[in-house]
Amino acid sequence: MCDQTLELAKELIALPSVTPVDAGCQRLVSDRLSSSGFIAEHMRFGQVDNLWLRRHEREPLFVFLGHTDVVPAGPLQDWLFDPFDPTERDGLLYGRGSADMKSSIAAFVIAADEFVAQHPSHRGSIAILLTSDEEGPARDGTRKVIEKLTAREEHIDYCLVGEPTSHSRLGDTIKIGRRGSLLGELKVVGVQGHVAYPHRARNPVHEFAPALAELTRTTWDEGNSRFPPTSLQITGMTADGIAENMIPGALSVSFNFRHSTASTSNTLMRKFEETLVRHGVNYEVDWRVSGIPYLTDGNEMIDVVSQAIHHELGIRTESSTTGGTSDGRFVAPTGAQVVELGPLNQTIHKVNECIALDDLEKLHKVYYRILVSILT
Ligand SMILES: [Zn+2]
Repeated sequence: MCDQTLELAKELIALPSVTPVDAGCQRLVSDRLSSSGFIAEHMRFGQVDNLWLRRHEREPLFVFLGHTDVVPAGPLQDWLFDPFDPTERDGLLYGRGSADMKSSIAAFVIAADEFVAQHPSHRGSIAILLTSDEEGPARDGTRKVIEKLTAREEHIDYCLVGEPTSHSRLGDTIKIGRRGSLLGELKVVGVQGHVAYPHRARNPVHEFAPALAELTRTTWDEGNSRFPPTSLQITGMTADGIAENMIPGALSVSFNFRHSTASTSNTLMRKFEETLVRHGVNYEVDWRVSGIPYLTDGNEMIDVVSQAIHHELGIRTESSTTGGTSDGRFVAPTGAQVVELGPLNQTIHKVNECIALDDLEKLHKVYYRILVSILT
């Protein structure tokens, strides 16, 4: 059992699928499951490969959601081993994507294969949705596949996302929702001039300062039982200071809201701009909603996953909504119950990314148990 999961994880890591390139990962998965009754549908949108692999047409539909793309390796000299040459050392498997998230894919594919072999007349259907555009702009990936499935009335009931959610022990944390992300590019318009003649200029830095002080102190919402309060972070600020005796004519500010379901992107935009207006700031702003928040519907799937973790790993998991966005945000609005469970996230996106070999096998067992609970 263990060997198959490890073998597949290593085969996937060896394919250098730096986002948005799939590098044959999805073909490997569809070939692996073709003799187990899974029908493969390869959907390519733009530069992005997506795979929809489904067994049976019945309800309910249980979907495993993952991504085959990885972030770039970074400085090669800092890696202990070649990031695309999976290497076992001291109980760990090293390689780019070992934690985020090729091990989860391998664990799930092997679990699904074993499950259908041992429960050939299981209820409902199983599907696997893989994209190569999660680490990138996420425009032609899961979002597009879900649009297509929705258009042909293919409805997902349960969705397990294999993102690395664990902190210090496998299974200590699952995600049952994610915060939304709202990006803004603000331009404060002033009047350029000589520093010796400030009355003939308007300094956009000075004009923005009181508004900035208020914005960074604002309580946007109190959060709710499932989410921490919304936070605003300024991520960049530049004034076009051309010379040291010049007052800049404009100030550019970039910022990012991470918000709970207690606020919508519209209420945040309105409140932000009201503050600027109140302080008399002359501005232009470009907004971009990069993720709407989601919270999974109901407790059924949360309970199933928590019990599977307790049974296989002997620990009580914590349900969380913290961290970045995930592709679960595209599935949850369809009404599916979405829960995320995957390996430790300590080394993701870093050099020497790795997963404990024990965790790989345990993850496979937990995924198997979840399938048994929901589809038998
Ligand atoms: Zn990931």
